[in-house]
Amino acid sequence: MLKFITCPQCGQKLCRAEIGSKVVITCPKCKSTYEGIVDKDGSVHALPLANDQKVG
Ligand SMILES: [Zn+2]
Repeated sequence: MLKFITCPQCGQKLCRAEIGSKVVITCPKCKSTYEGIVDKDGSVHALPLANDQKVG
């Protein structure tokens, strides 16, 4: 079942993904990227990824 994935920081809906799948999401509001596993509530226990590949 697809669940809406929300930003762990601000709650912005970002995408839909399968429960238990690994997702990488980027929030346009926070400008942050998170990586985590989708749980049954559609939330992601996410770790902010370091933006060390930022160019410029
Ligand atoms: Zn956000």
